[in-house]
Amino acid sequence: MRRLAETHNIDPSKAVHIFHLILSETPKGGLSDDDIESVTGYRQSEIRKILRLLEDYGIAVHRRRRHPEKEVSRYFWRVDPDNINIVLLNRKKLVLQRLKERLKYEEENTFYVCPSDGTRYTLQQALENDYICPRCGSVLEEEDRSGGISKLRSRIEALEEEIKRDEKRVYGY
Ligand SMILES: [Zn+2]
Repeated sequence: MRRLAETHNIDPSKAVHIFHLILSETPKGGLSDDDIESVTGYRQSEIRKILRLLEDYGIAVHRRRRHPEKEVSRYFWRVDPDNINIVLLNRKKLVLQRLKERLKYEEENTFYVCPSDGTRYTLQQALENDYICPRCGSVLEEEDRSGGISKLRSRIEALEEEIKRDEKRVYGY
């Protein structure tokens, strides 16, 4: 998207800013030019130029709505919901965020496991039960998680690479 903006004499960072703004507002049905102006402080003429560019390239769509009292109609902008690449990319980013949270949790905690029924306990839970499985009475063992953590790490790395590739394709940066 940066390159696209540059070739049209538009400040790339402003284009990316507006893009992210209307992308995050998509569930609410879109933002008007005025909304975008009040959030960004950019000039209306600049905003319209960017929105028109995004529309020309099938990234943004607009809807015209009439103000219920005033005799004016406004354009409400959002990222084209049919733009599957962006939707998929955002889903991948969400998965990545969850994996990272999971990894942090795994790295920061020690786990105990019951050798008989496989139930997993946090250190806190193991302490509270004197290292005895409350389900079956077996003595809990410290879990060997080295394999699980490295598997999680390589999943995160692979997903990060994939997101980088997708971003280059979708936004051009
Ligand atoms: Zn047990």
